[in-house]
Amino acid sequence: MTRGLHWFRNDLRLQDNSALTALVERAETWLPVFVLDPRMLGNERSGGPRTRFLLDCLARLGRDLEKRGVPLLVRHGRPEQVLPRLLSETGARLLSFNRAVTPFGCQRDAAVRRTVEKDGGEVIERLDHVVFGSSEIRTQKGSAYSVYSPYRKTWWRRWLEAPRLPVRLGALPPPIPDVASDRIPDPREFGLDAGAVALPTGGEAAAHQRLEQFLTTAAGRYHEDRDRPDRDGTSRLSAYLRFGAISIRECIVRGEEAIAADPALESGIAKWLDELLWREFYSSILEENPRVLRENYRSEYDALVWNDDPDGFEAWCEGRTGYPIVDAGMRQLRETGWMHNRVRMIAASFLTKDLLIDWREGERFFFEHLVDGDPASNNGGWQWAASTGTDPQPYFRIFNPIAQGRRWDPNGDYVRRWIPELQNVPGAQVHTPWEAQQPPAAYPPPIVDHAERREDALERFSEARQAGANS
Ligand SMILES: Cc1cc2nc3c(=O)[nH]c(=O)nc-3n(C[C@H](O)[C@H](O)[C@H](O)COP(=O)(O)OP(=O)(O)OC[C@H]3O[C@@H](n4cnc5c(N)ncnc54)[C@H](O)[C@@H]3O)c2cc1C
Repeated sequence: MTRGLHWFRNDLRLQDNSALTALVERAETWLPVFVLDPRMLGNERSGGPRTRFLLDCLARLGRDLEKRGVPLLVRHGRPEQVLPRLLSETGARLLSFNRAVTPFGCQRDAAVRRTVEKDGGEVIERLDHVVFGSSEIRTQKGSAYSVYSPYRKTWWRRWLEAPRLPVRLGALPPPIPDVASDRIPDPREFGLDAGAVALPTGGEAAAHQRLEQFLTTAAGRYHEDRDRPDRDGTSRLSAYLRFGAISIRECIVRGEEAIAADPALESGIAKWLDELLWREFYSSILEENPRVLRENYRSEYDALVWNDDPDGFEAWCEGRTGYPIVDAGMRQLRETGWMHNRVRMIAASFLTKDLLIDWREGERFFFEHLVDGDPASNNGGWQWAASTGTDPQPYFRIFNPIAQGRRWDPNGDYVRRWIPELQNVPGAQVHTPWEAQQPPAAYPPPIVDHAERREDALERFSEARQAGANS
């Protein structure tokens, strides 16, 4: 009797799960397993809010499996050690999992594969977290794209030629009996305070609900509202996608179906589908260039001299730079584990261009706090904002935090929501509180002069480019 194990990682769902579907088609009896790897939990790398969301998703996945008569097996330890042991303990020969993209994940999976195959087992590995892997979207010369727009065009061409449709999970084979499981830990065991950050409900059902709610409400106006942090104009699906509580194929196909059902929604939803492709793009950038997690994508900026400014960094982290839109974003991040995309861009630009602090410091801080913290998208976003990345914001285009605030939060509602000290500053004046008749005493003045810092940044980036060109 063929026995198999499915190793859940960032694919915490039953529907349209590529490797899971492949396993249950072949195994006559099986078990799903999640390995709590001490390297990945309850530390800066995993981030407190993200660990809490993960454990919530995991508990709900466990309940969904139970309803289908299968227990979720949980084990503590390093997968390279735990999984081969578990295969031998259960007599399973097949091990399935969905492909990783980070250097850490790829190395870990290669080690697991080696041991399993050495012991005579078989690994079933599938591409799942993106629709197309980097090897499937190539330029005419066969190389990987480094610019988003042509990547997007080729991506859509491929999709239209051969869409990858979601697969429904059929009846499950019976579980391998009598295998002991550890319990899913309570976040408090990692010192994570449940009340600290208000998180969304985890799990597959909540993800689907959120997608449907978005498609029937804000999606039609997404092209107009997506840059407005004062509006609830985006899907808020990022954390669900991060942990695979919903599949990317499901999102794309449901978006296409919603357009077909009501063509008036097309402008909004088509724009949203294009944004999902940034996620695919950054994943393939990481797949092709694992070094970006440490280095500038564009080596011509390697000579950039960043500031060593612990006070500036602390003020940025704590949301007290004196630039309201930046501070509102940082406070939203700390209080909810999420920040609006436009404000992420503004906050990242401020750190790298106004404070001239290395993007890697900001990337680390975001990664620690974001529930959707994803190595590829976070790195892509940071390097884009710092002008060191693919398809970059050219270094001479530097966000003015006041103009950005006035443009995207025209009534100041977003800023007032996150900065109580500015409650009484009316309208758009909240973006320059120092100009108010009575500047609020509790809110700090700007820590740097934007106009001066802009000139410094232009000089610094231009010198680095020159040095890069001459080296
Ligand atoms: C400095 C910086 C850091 C970022 N770090 C992350 C991160 O760690 N994880 C993350 O998922 N996104 C990251 N983003 C991208 C983006 O901010 C979030 O995906 C988005 O705000 C999530 O909200 P939403 O689900 O409502 O997005 P929507 O606007 O509804 O977009 C739908 C989905 O498309 C994807 N998406 C949209 N924009 C982008 C983008 N620019 N890059 C990659 N994917 C995108 C996300 O999966 C998102 O859930 C970062 C952006 C910047 C500028």
